[in-house]
Amino acid sequence: MQFKTLPKVGRSESEIELELDLILQDNELRMGKVFQPPKGVEDFSKRIFAKFMSENAIKSQRGDWIGEIEKQVIQMCVGLFNAPGDASGTFTSGGSESIYTAVHAIREWAKTHKPHITEPEIVVPYSAHPTFTKGCHYFGLKEVRAGLDETWRASPELMDAAVTKNTIAVVASAPCFPYGLYDPVQEIGDIATRHDLWMHVDACVGGYLAPFLEELNIGLPRWDFRVGAVQSISADLHKLGCCLKPASTVLWRSEQLLQYHHFHPSNWPCGTYDMVGFAGSRTAGPIFAAWATLQHLGVNGFVRVAEELLIRKKELFDGINEIEGLKCWDNHLVPVVFEATSVDLAKVKAEMSNRKWNLYGTQEPPLINICLDPASDDNVVDEFLSDLSDAVRLTRQGSVLTKGSLSY
Ligand SMILES: *Cc1c(COP(=O)(O)O)cnc(C)c1O
Repeated sequence: MQFKTLPKVGRSESEIELELDLILQDNELRMGKVFQPPKGVEDFSKRIFAKFMSENAIKSQRGDWIGEIEKQVIQMCVGLFNAPGDASGTFTSGGSESIYTAVHAIREWAKTHKPHITEPEIVVPYSAHPTFTKGCHYFGLKEVRAGLDETWRASPELMDAAVTKNTIAVVASAPCFPYGLYDPVQEIGDIATRHDLWMHVDACVGGYLAPFLEELNIGLPRWDFRVGAVQSISADLHKLGCCLKPASTVLWRSEQLLQYHHFHPSNWPCGTYDMVGFAGSRTAGPIFAAWATLQHLGVNGFVRVAEELLIRKKELFDGINEIEGLKCWDNHLVPVVFEATSVDLAKVKAEMSNRKWNLYGTQEPPLINICLDPASDDNVVDEFLSDLSDAVRLTRQGSVLTKGSLSY
């Protein structure tokens, strides 16, 4: 049924719910939902979310009872990134808002520290999230994308060459979305130090997994505040932080950097308008759900999630490599990406999509990305591999008729 106008007479709850349940059923996707928390954790978080959903977090900046919980979420998070004592953070609605927040702060910082620059530029690797392009567009900055090296990571040489007298910041991903690879954060940090630039690290996808991989002695490249040049980090709670959307964080090396984020006008009849970020009225649900999820999982819970993901990754890695014509990349866990050596990957993705598998694509080079969910178990992986093997066979036979594409 399609409704283009408000119904003249309101409809019953049950009729509406039935209709919406059908929509949900028809659109149920498997794996990569994206980053669905483990089932028990999700059910618990939903209950807490619902309890606080109707509360308004508009005054959290003033440290009301909601602000107190929001502050504790930030404190629990900041502690994971090896920051110096007075580091701080801001709770946001997602990776996009975290990145806009950082880009805005970078612009304001440059107004103070590089007042002679009138047309500021930010240098980002080609593989960085498109949200940097959007952020630069929104805030009137010029974004310069530097090419990658032969291993598909950011190239410090090309980034350095892209720095001009107008550059105010550099960006690295830890890891980037298209390939799940860590950029050489330390080397890019050296560029920032040499030219006195702000450095932002985008750890949206991996930020809340990395500390627990380290606990398991999985060697990761240095990427967090231990790299001295890093001023800010974006990390999504609603990805591998196992929290419900909308929840993300942007973390600042020092509390003092918050001054470049905050903007509290008072030129209206009601006095100071001091919001935590871009939003005014917003639900307290995600803040409380995040607090509850972090408290409930604890370090041991997150380590368990990391261990489970490592097991799933290994199963996928081995299983994909066993399928003739496919080859899985050896990256740092997420997303799991694979290329094709002798089969049309776009068709394979199309067939998987027909079977309700939610996969992402990369065009340069042709890849399929799997946003491995913490909710996935052995059964999901087995079904996935079996369908993938079918999809490759059908593609080879020329029997996949759906027009495929490797676009995101
Ligand atoms: C997902 C992602 C983003 C954007 O986050 P949203 O929560 O989708 O707004 C930014 N950067 C990276 C590396 C990501 O994986």
